[in-house]
Amino acid sequence: MVLGPPGAGKGTQCSLLARHYGVPHVSTGDLLRAAVSSGGETSVAVGRDMDAGNLLADEVVVAMVEERLAAEDASGGFVLDGFPRTVPQVQSLLEMVGPNGIDVAIDLRVPIDVATARLAKRRMAEGQERRRDDAEAVVARRLELHQAQAAPVADAFRRRGLLVDVDGLGAPEEVAERLLAVVEAARRER
Ligand code: AMP
Repeated sequence: MVLGPPGAGKGTQCSLLARHYGVPHVSTGDLLRAAVSSGGETSVAVGRDMDAGNLLADEVVVAMVEERLAAEDASGGFVLDGFPRTVPQVQSLLEMVGPNGIDVAIDLRVPIDVATARLAKRRMAEGQERRRDDAEAVVARRLELHQAQAAPVADAFRRRGLLVDVDGLGAPEEVAERLLAVVEAARRER
């Protein structure tokens, strides 16, 4: 599982890790965006919260993750991206997967000014699907929420001996190598 602020490169790195291990990349942001575009009954409210950069209610996100992890393709493992983001979400996850269900929680670290600059670049990027929550004011809100929630979430994993910090600066391939080394070491220890 990969923690870290918006703009840390979680999406890119989790997708590389998932491909490497042949397991699904489970991103709550992607699941929520898919729910919004499928236009179900809660999609308007979910879309409104996401567009404002607010976190969705724990129950909503936890139910979604629970359903996704119960799918056949996740039975051999998964890479979690953007979840858990609150302490109640950590608790729900540990109940879901059991005490040995997580190999490692990686805190992908980048300074906030770098994350902000990367998100500004993503905002300007052509030929990429635009994310409405990459608007400047919303990015500030997302980063602020992250800063408020990140420490207690990281601490919950640190207390369980599962947290490893990884430097998120550098070329994506270099960061990917650091992540792989950490995951491999964690799996060897199990
Ligand atoms: P992300 O793609 O991970 O940056 O998530 C985009 C948006 O989806 C966030 O700004 C939140 O509005 C929502 N979201 C994603 N993951 C969670 C989560 N674990 N808990 C609550 N809201 C979430």
